[in-house]
Amino acid sequence: MSPVLRIGRNAHTGKYILPPSSHESTEQARTFLKTHGLKSFLDAYLPEQLTSIHIYCLIRLLGFEIKNRRLLWDLSRHLETPRGQRANNSNSGPLSSTESASHNLSKYRVNSSSKDPLSSDQLARLIRDLQKAINRVLSMRLPLSSFSHPSSIIPILLSAKNIIVLTGAGVSTSLGIPDFRSSEGFYSRIRHLGLDDPQDVFSLDIFRKDPSVFYSIAHLVLPPQRMFSPLHAFIKLLQDRGSLLRNYTQNIDNFESHAGVDKDKLVQCHGSFATATCFTCGWKIAGERIYSNIRKMELPLCPHCIDKRNPSKPKSFGVLKPDITFFGESLPSRFHSLLRKDLEKCDLLLCIGTSLKVAPVSDIPKLLNDNVPRFLINRDPVSHGQFDINLLGLCDDTAVYLSKLCNWKIPCKNWQELASYDYECIKEPQKRCFSIIRSDNEYFPENNKIATNAKTASQLESESKIEENTTVNTTATSGSKIN
Ligand SMILES: [Zn+2]
Repeated sequence: MSPVLRIGRNAHTGKYILPPSSHESTEQARTFLKTHGLKSFLDAYLPEQLTSIHIYCLIRLLGFEIKNRRLLWDLSRHLETPRGQRANNSNSGPLSSTESASHNLSKYRVNSSSKDPLSSDQLARLIRDLQKAINRVLSMRLPLSSFSHPSSIIPILLSAKNIIVLTGAGVSTSLGIPDFRSSEGFYSRIRHLGLDDPQDVFSLDIFRKDPSVFYSIAHLVLPPQRMFSPLHAFIKLLQDRGSLLRNYTQNIDNFESHAGVDKDKLVQCHGSFATATCFTCGWKIAGERIYSNIRKMELPLCPHCIDKRNPSKPKSFGVLKPDITFFGESLPSRFHSLLRKDLEKCDLLLCIGTSLKVAPVSDIPKLLNDNVPRFLINRDPVSHGQFDINLLGLCDDTAVYLSKLCNWKIPCKNWQELASYDYECIKEPQKRCFSIIRSDNEYFPENNKIATNAKTASQLESESKIEENTTVNTTATSGSKIN
């Protein structure tokens, strides 16, 4: 069937009736544009007798909405909205006014013999918006069509030789480590400190002026020792199979090492508590040696600098700082040197437990070749990652689910117990999204017949919340020397 836009008109009101739109029709149109190019796309979708309504309809079909309110209002006066149609088809946000428009749409003119509902200025504006929408789609990665169900990712999991695993806070929440940005996360828990921005506790400038700000909360992010989750062990399993190219972790808890991921396979993008360095002379020690200071909310002091501390010096003089990357510090050089080579080799990207909000790590999916499959394992979908499949739920459950499908055994001590559960994969309303649920979860289909697919993700969200159990003391001013 020809994809040309067919716009009807109400015989009584004269209003235009837009064809129904859906995620499927948007994906089809984007695929057509990327596959066949601009000329074929416009020829196929636009009729010969063109009105501004067709231009607007095409912008929406590509998944965008126009920004100009006046123009939207004028358009709405001429449109009928059929019941059941999505009020807003945009799934990529409004069009930015700063994008360049490089494609020439000028040959598509409204037939001068027909009366267009909009003024020529408004029509010109719409054409510019269509150009922006087209440019954006052309620069966008489209999901690979070969992955329609989680089971379809098993062959690639089994055959991939160079997997990049990108991990975030979500892989450690099952161990009681709070994530940073959720409503129950670390930044919410320190909001009462009265900082302009809770992220300031990790500001290098503030540490330089007053390291006690960091040491008053550092115990909250100090990792318990020698722990790892089934998900961390799943990464070790990929390493044992020889298919792990690298694990880029945004976490500072060092749990990947505890699970046995080799040093050379691991890039701790934001550093870790594994080592600490004197802020003044650069003396370095094992991070564990300042753990007791951190727990007591004391400043750990460098033995080489302690005697030179005095009130005329900055408060950070001679203070040891864990080698976690603060805001204002550059990422470890290892991140940049390895990433460039790894991106060329990578044949599968697994993003796990991350909402991809912190650059430059969040840019890794965009830097990969478009033809490299990428899967998300996370509590919530991450729309800007353009993943081929989104597996939603608890990261540990999904790791066990995939391992069972692959006939793998995760090297963790409770594997037998984890494998004894059934795991259900449920299609979510969002495109390419599936929830993975364990059979002891009350929302497992057999446990709760009234549970609907749409409820699943929100239920998982509430179950993975971390209880607030720690109070914050802001008086970490005393210092203690490290020998
Ligand atoms: Zn020192």
